[in-house]
Amino acid sequence: MKLLSTGNPKTLKGLATGYNTYILHLAPANLSGFETCPKRTEGCTAACLNTAGRGGMFKKGETTNTIQKARIRKTRLFFEDRVSFMNLLVKDIELAIKQSAKLNFIPVFRLNGTSDIAFEKYEVLRNGQTYSNIFFAFPEVIFYDYTKILGRKINFIPNYSLTFSAADGNDADVQKAIAQGYNVATVFGIKKTLPMPETYLGRPVFNGDESDLRFLDPKGVVVGLYAKGRAKKDTTGFVKYPTLMLKAA
Ligand code: SF4
Repeated sequence: MKLLSTGNPKTLKGLATGYNTYILHLAPANLSGFETCPKRTEGCTAACLNTAGRGGMFKKGETTNTIQKARIRKTRLFFEDRVSFMNLLVKDIELAIKQSAKLNFIPVFRLNGTSDIAFEKYEVLRNGQTYSNIFFAFPEVIFYDYTKILGRKINFIPNYSLTFSAADGNDADVQKAIAQGYNVATVFGIKKTLPMPETYLGRPVFNGDESDLRFLDPKGVVVGLYAKGRAKKDTTGFVKYPTLMLKAA
């Protein structure tokens, strides 16, 4: 089983700047029978990018496909046989590093492409040595993720960058995340009709759709993302419409 994939349209933008993002896509929410998103909301669960692109293409009359089945298999392996999962992950990352060196790209890694797991908690074995987490096992590469979990113990991990993720009903956590120094990713309305605001929550808005390389973002910004896929129909408050709100005020 292969855990990591490349080729997401947004991460491909990173290739122009020399970075190749390898993503681990697990089954989000409780689709696998195991919860991978402890702080998910009604809105983000409905709008989740799990069904973006080929992951959301189903044959007529079917409700799943090979991509969804693979994500569920990987997730079950993570929960049911953690050692095998982490060994596979180590192998995949080593392979990605070799592949990228041949192609002259810098490999970077997103382990929560469609999940929100605190990977800093899980030990791994690399070259016969045990490390307290995957980030320490690979100090030579950069990892990055979005998260809705406040208080993850990652300050001591220099090669892991987290962007806090705003959603419907987590405003209090957003305020705490800002106070703790996180950039906050926020999904704004429709690209064609509602341009991103210049500022939001008193911070400059940085267009996060230009690339997926969140670890390169300036500090102290709101990372603006346009609604995609099912998020375009959101009515829960997951997608923010500051322009409309300003007009209505
Ligand atoms: S927390 Fe993220 S991965 Fe999980 S359901 Fe929400 S948007 Fe999807």
